[in-house]
Amino acid sequence: MLTGKTALVTGSTSGIGLGIAKALARQGANIVLNGFGDSSGPQAEVAALGVKVGYHGADMSKPDEIEAMMAYAAETFGQVDILVNNAGIQHVAKVQDFPVERWDAVIAINLSSAFHTSRLALPAMLKANWGRIINVASVHGLVGSAEKSAYVAAKHGIVGLTKVTALETATSGVTCNAICPGWVLTPLVQKQVDAKAAAMKLSNEEATKLLLGEKEPSMQFTTPEELGELAVFFCSPAAGNVRGVAWNMDGGWAAQ
Ligand code: NAD
Repeated sequence: MLTGKTALVTGSTSGIGLGIAKALARQGANIVLNGFGDSSGPQAEVAALGVKVGYHGADMSKPDEIEAMMAYAAETFGQVDILVNNAGIQHVAKVQDFPVERWDAVIAINLSSAFHTSRLALPAMLKANWGRIINVASVHGLVGSAEKSAYVAAKHGIVGLTKVTALETATSGVTCNAICPGWVLTPLVQKQVDAKAAAMKLSNEEATKLLLGEKEPSMQFTTPEELGELAVFFCSPAAGNVRGVAWNMDGGWAAQ
Protein backbone atom coordinates (compact mmCIF):
# COMPACT_ATOMS: atom_id res chain seq x y z
CA MET A 1 0.00 0.00 0.00
CA LEU A 2 2.86 2.44 0.72
CA THR A 3 5.36 1.41 -1.96
CA GLY A 4 7.14 4.49 -3.32
CA LYS A 5 6.37 6.56 -0.21
CA THR A 6 8.95 7.62 2.38
CA ALA A 7 8.26 7.70 6.10
CA LEU A 8 10.42 9.55 8.60
CA VAL A 9 9.94 8.35 12.17
CA THR A 10 11.62 10.32 14.96
CA GLY A 11 12.93 8.37 17.95
CA SER A 12 12.83 5.10 16.05
CA THR A 13 15.95 3.31 17.28
CA SER A 14 13.82 1.74 20.02
CA GLY A 15 10.34 1.00 21.32
CA ILE A 16 7.20 2.41 19.72
CA GLY A 17 9.02 4.33 16.98
CA LEU A 18 10.80 1.22 15.74
CA GLY A 19 7.50 -0.72 15.87
CA ILE A 20 5.78 1.93 13.75
CA ALA A 21 8.72 2.13 11.32
CA LYS A 22 8.60 -1.64 10.78
CA ALA A 23 4.81 -1.67 10.29
CA LEU A 24 5.11 1.07 7.63
CA ALA A 25 8.04 -0.78 5.99
CA ARG A 26 5.91 -3.95 5.81
CA GLN A 27 3.54 -1.87 3.64
CA GLY A 28 6.44 -0.96 1.35
CA ALA A 29 7.42 2.50 2.62
CA ASN A 30 11.08 3.51 2.62
CA ILE A 31 12.10 4.54 6.11
CA VAL A 32 14.26 7.27 7.62
CA LEU A 33 15.15 6.32 11.18
CA ASN A 34 16.24 8.74 13.91
CA GLY A 35 17.22 8.39 17.54
CA PHE A 36 20.09 7.72 19.91
CA GLY A 37 22.02 4.55 20.72
CA ASP A 38 22.72 1.71 18.32
CA SER A 39 21.24 2.49 14.90
CA SER A 40 22.77 -0.37 12.90
CA GLY A 41 20.53 -3.05 14.49
CA PRO A 42 17.29 -1.12 13.81
CA GLN A 43 18.50 -0.25 10.28
CA ALA A 44 19.13 -3.94 9.57
CA GLU A 45 15.68 -4.91 10.98
CA VAL A 46 13.96 -2.43 8.66
CA ALA A 47 16.12 -3.25 5.62
CA ALA A 48 15.25 -6.95 6.10
CA LEU A 49 11.66 -5.98 5.19
CA GLY A 50 12.85 -5.17 1.66
CA VAL A 51 12.70 -1.36 1.69
CA LYS A 52 15.34 1.39 1.54
CA VAL A 53 16.42 2.67 4.92
CA GLY A 54 18.25 5.81 5.98
CA TYR A 55 19.28 7.17 9.36
CA HIS A 56 19.91 10.63 10.78
CA GLY A 57 21.00 11.10 14.39
CA ALA A 58 19.54 14.61 14.91
CA ASP A 59 18.87 15.58 18.51
CA MET A 60 15.16 16.47 18.58
CA SER A 61 15.79 19.20 21.14
CA LYS A 62 17.84 21.15 18.58
CA PRO A 63 15.99 22.97 15.74
CA ASP A 64 19.14 23.28 13.58
CA GLU A 65 19.74 19.51 13.78
CA ILE A 66 16.06 18.88 12.91
CA GLU A 67 16.49 21.10 9.83
CA ALA A 68 19.57 19.08 8.82
CA MET A 69 17.61 15.80 9.25
CA MET A 70 14.71 17.02 7.10
CA ALA A 71 17.16 18.22 4.40
CA TYR A 72 18.91 14.80 4.52
CA ALA A 73 15.56 13.00 4.07
CA ALA A 74 14.56 15.20 1.12
CA GLU A 75 17.97 14.83 -0.56
CA THR A 76 18.15 11.06 -0.05
CA PHE A 77 14.54 10.03 -0.68
CA GLY A 78 12.97 12.91 -2.63
CA GLN A 79 10.53 13.94 0.08
CA VAL A 80 8.91 12.90 3.34
CA ASP A 81 5.38 11.62 2.61
CA ILE A 82 4.69 10.25 6.08
CA LEU A 83 5.99 12.01 9.17
CA VAL A 84 5.73 10.24 12.51
CA ASN A 85 6.60 12.49 15.44
CA ASN A 86 7.44 9.94 18.08
CA ALA A 87 10.65 10.90 19.94
CA GLY A 88 9.94 11.43 23.61
CA ILE A 89 11.39 11.36 27.09
CA GLN A 90 9.91 11.28 30.58
CA HIS A 91 10.86 12.85 33.91
CA VAL A 92 8.96 12.26 37.12
CA ALA A 93 8.92 14.84 39.96
CA LYS A 94 6.46 17.13 41.76
CA VAL A 95 6.03 20.59 40.19
CA GLN A 96 7.95 22.33 42.99
CA ASP A 97 10.86 19.89 42.65
CA PHE A 98 10.89 19.63 38.83
CA PRO A 99 14.37 20.52 37.49
CA VAL A 100 14.01 23.50 35.12
CA GLU A 101 16.44 21.90 32.65
CA ARG A 102 14.30 18.69 32.54
CA TRP A 103 11.12 20.74 31.96
CA ASP A 104 12.78 22.48 28.99
CA ALA A 105 14.09 19.18 27.59
CA VAL A 106 10.70 17.41 27.81
CA ILE A 107 8.89 20.31 26.12
CA ALA A 108 11.56 20.59 23.40
CA ILE A 109 11.71 16.86 22.57
CA ASN A 110 8.08 15.82 23.15
CA LEU A 111 6.38 18.94 21.73
CA SER A 112 8.48 21.57 19.92
CA SER A 113 10.27 18.99 17.74
CA ALA A 114 6.91 18.06 16.18
CA PHE A 115 6.30 21.71 15.30
CA HIS A 116 9.72 21.91 13.60
CA THR A 117 9.42 18.66 11.61
CA SER A 118 5.82 19.51 10.61
CA ARG A 119 6.63 23.05 9.44
CA LEU A 120 9.47 21.63 7.34
CA ALA A 121 7.53 18.66 5.90
CA LEU A 122 4.23 20.39 5.10
CA PRO A 123 5.19 22.46 2.00
CA ALA A 124 6.18 19.36 -0.05
CA MET A 125 3.20 17.34 1.26
CA LEU A 126 0.78 20.11 0.28
CA LYS A 127 2.44 20.47 -3.14
CA ALA A 128 2.02 16.71 -3.73
CA ASN A 129 -1.51 16.89 -2.25
CA TRP A 130 -0.78 13.76 -0.20
CA GLY A 131 0.76 13.41 3.21
CA ARG A 132 0.29 11.87 6.62
CA ILE A 133 1.45 13.42 9.89
CA ILE A 134 1.06 11.08 12.84
CA ASN A 135 1.88 12.51 16.26
CA VAL A 136 2.60 9.96 18.97
CA ALA A 137 1.00 11.67 21.96
CA SER A 138 -0.12 9.54 24.93
CA VAL A 139 -3.12 8.90 27.09
CA HIS A 140 -1.40 11.74 28.97
CA GLY A 141 -2.52 13.98 26.10
CA LEU A 142 -6.07 13.34 27.35
CA VAL A 143 -5.76 13.00 31.14
CA GLY A 144 -3.16 13.91 33.79
CA SER A 145 -1.09 11.93 36.28
CA ALA A 146 0.71 13.32 39.34
CA GLU A 147 4.44 14.06 39.03
CA LYS A 148 4.37 14.23 35.22
CA SER A 149 3.77 17.97 34.70
CA ALA A 150 6.12 18.50 31.75
CA TYR A 151 5.10 15.26 30.02
CA VAL A 152 1.36 15.88 30.44
CA ALA A 153 1.75 19.51 29.32
CA ALA A 154 3.74 18.45 26.24
CA LYS A 155 1.31 15.65 25.35
CA HIS A 156 -1.77 17.87 25.74
CA GLY A 157 0.17 20.37 23.60
CA ILE A 158 0.84 17.89 20.82
CA VAL A 159 -2.86 16.94 20.74
CA GLY A 160 -3.57 20.66 20.24
CA LEU A 161 -0.93 20.91 17.51
CA THR A 162 -2.53 17.87 15.84
CA LYS A 163 -5.95 19.58 15.74
CA VAL A 164 -4.58 22.84 14.31
CA THR A 165 -2.47 21.04 11.68
CA ALA A 166 -5.54 18.99 10.70
CA LEU A 167 -7.66 22.15 10.34
CA GLU A 168 -5.06 23.95 8.26
CA THR A 169 -4.79 20.98 5.86
CA ALA A 170 -8.47 19.97 5.94
CA THR A 171 -9.21 20.65 2.27
CA SER A 172 -6.06 18.85 1.06
CA GLY A 173 -4.86 15.27 0.78
CA VAL A 174 -2.71 15.79 3.87
CA THR A 175 -4.04 14.53 7.20
CA CYS A 176 -2.77 14.88 10.74
CA ASN A 177 -3.81 12.65 13.64
CA ALA A 178 -2.50 11.63 17.06
CA ILE A 179 -2.06 8.23 18.66
CA CYS A 180 -2.51 8.06 22.42
CA PRO A 181 -1.03 4.86 23.90
CA GLY A 182 -1.51 3.72 27.47
CA TRP A 183 1.33 1.69 29.01
CA VAL A 184 3.68 0.12 26.44
CA LEU A 185 6.57 -1.95 27.81
CA THR A 186 9.51 -0.04 26.31
CA PRO A 187 12.72 1.23 27.97
CA LEU A 188 10.82 4.45 28.85
CA VAL A 189 8.30 2.49 30.96
CA GLN A 190 10.72 -0.18 32.25
CA LYS A 191 12.55 2.69 34.03
CA GLN A 192 9.29 3.52 35.85
CA VAL A 193 8.76 -0.16 36.76
CA ASP A 194 12.35 -0.32 38.08
CA ALA A 195 11.83 2.84 40.17
CA LYS A 196 8.64 1.38 41.70
CA ALA A 197 10.33 -1.96 42.41
CA ALA A 198 13.27 -0.23 44.13
CA ALA A 199 11.13 2.23 46.15
CA MET A 200 8.64 -0.44 47.35
CA LYS A 201 11.05 -3.40 47.50
CA LEU A 202 9.02 -5.38 44.96
CA SER A 203 9.95 -7.90 42.30
CA ASN A 204 9.81 -6.80 38.65
CA GLU A 205 6.59 -8.82 38.23
CA GLU A 206 4.91 -7.28 41.32
CA ALA A 207 5.92 -3.75 40.30
CA THR A 208 4.62 -4.33 36.73
CA LYS A 209 1.25 -5.54 38.07
CA LEU A 210 1.00 -2.54 40.37
CA LEU A 211 1.84 -0.13 37.53
CA LEU A 212 -0.81 -1.63 35.24
CA GLY A 213 -3.39 -1.95 38.02
CA GLU A 214 -3.14 1.75 38.94
CA LYS A 215 -4.23 2.95 35.49
CA GLU A 216 -4.91 0.34 32.81
CA PRO A 217 -8.15 -1.69 33.32
CA SER A 218 -7.16 -4.34 30.74
CA MET A 219 -4.05 -5.16 32.87
CA GLN A 220 -2.22 -5.57 29.54
CA PHE A 221 0.44 -3.52 27.84
CA THR A 222 -0.35 -2.09 24.40
CA THR A 223 2.39 -3.26 21.98
CA PRO A 224 4.49 -1.34 19.44
CA GLU A 225 3.12 -3.75 16.80
CA GLU A 226 -0.50 -2.76 17.60
CA LEU A 227 0.43 0.92 17.48
CA GLY A 228 2.19 0.31 14.16
CA GLU A 229 -1.02 -1.12 12.69
CA LEU A 230 -2.94 1.99 13.82
CA ALA A 231 -0.35 4.13 12.03
CA VAL A 232 -0.82 1.96 8.91
CA PHE A 233 -4.58 2.59 9.12
CA PHE A 234 -4.01 6.37 9.27
CA CYS A 235 -1.97 6.01 6.05
CA SER A 236 -4.65 3.97 4.28
CA PRO A 237 -7.17 5.38 1.76
CA ALA A 238 -9.98 4.55 4.23
CA ALA A 239 -8.53 7.11 6.66
CA GLY A 240 -8.43 9.92 4.09
CA ASN A 241 -11.05 11.89 5.98
CA VAL A 242 -9.89 11.05 9.51
CA ARG A 243 -8.59 14.44 10.61
CA GLY A 244 -7.46 15.81 13.95
CA VAL A 245 -8.33 12.82 16.10
CA ALA A 246 -6.50 11.76 19.26
CA TRP A 247 -7.04 8.01 19.14
CA ASN A 248 -6.31 6.21 22.37
CA MET A 249 -5.09 2.61 22.49
CA ASP A 250 -4.92 2.38 26.24
CA GLY A 251 -6.70 -0.70 27.61
CA GLY A 252 -9.56 1.48 28.84
CA TRP A 253 -7.38 3.96 30.80
CA ALA A 254 -9.18 7.10 29.58
CA ALA A 255 -12.62 5.50 29.76
CA GLN A 256 -12.57 5.63 33.57
P1 NAD B 1 11.84 4.68 24.14
O1 NAD B 1 12.64 5.27 25.25
O2 NAD B 1 11.84 3.21 23.91
O3 NAD B 1 12.21 5.36 22.75
C1 NAD B 1 12.38 6.72 22.65
C2 NAD B 1 13.09 7.00 21.36
O4 NAD B 1 13.33 8.42 21.27
C3 NAD B 1 14.47 6.34 21.26
O5 NAD B 1 14.71 5.95 19.92
C4 NAD B 1 15.41 7.46 21.67
O6 NAD B 1 16.73 7.29 21.16
C5 NAD B 1 14.70 8.64 21.05
N1 NAD B 1 15.08 9.91 21.63
C6 NAD B 1 15.07 10.29 22.93
N2 NAD B 1 15.51 11.55 23.03
C7 NAD B 1 15.78 11.97 21.77
C8 NAD B 1 16.28 13.17 21.23
N3 NAD B 1 16.60 14.23 21.99
N4 NAD B 1 16.46 13.25 19.90
C9 NAD B 1 16.17 12.18 19.08
N5 NAD B 1 15.70 11.02 19.55
C10 NAD B 1 15.52 10.93 20.89
O7 NAD B 1 10.37 5.24 24.39
P2 NAD B 1 8.93 4.78 23.85
O8 NAD B 1 8.19 4.27 25.03
O9 NAD B 1 9.04 3.98 22.64
O10 NAD B 1 8.32 6.21 23.53
C11 NAD B 1 8.08 6.68 22.22
C12 NAD B 1 6.98 7.72 22.26
O11 NAD B 1 5.79 7.11 22.74
C13 NAD B 1 7.28 8.90 23.20
O12 NAD B 1 6.82 10.10 22.61
C14 NAD B 1 6.45 8.55 24.42
O13 NAD B 1 6.09 9.69 25.15
C15 NAD B 1 5.25 7.89 23.78
N6 NAD B 1 4.48 7.04 24.69
C16 NAD B 1 5.05 5.98 25.30
C17 NAD B 1 4.26 5.20 26.15
C18 NAD B 1 4.80 4.00 26.86
O14 NAD B 1 4.08 3.44 27.71
N7 NAD B 1 5.99 3.53 26.56
C19 NAD B 1 2.93 5.54 26.37
C20 NAD B 1 2.40 6.64 25.73
C21 NAD B 1 3.19 7.39 24.89
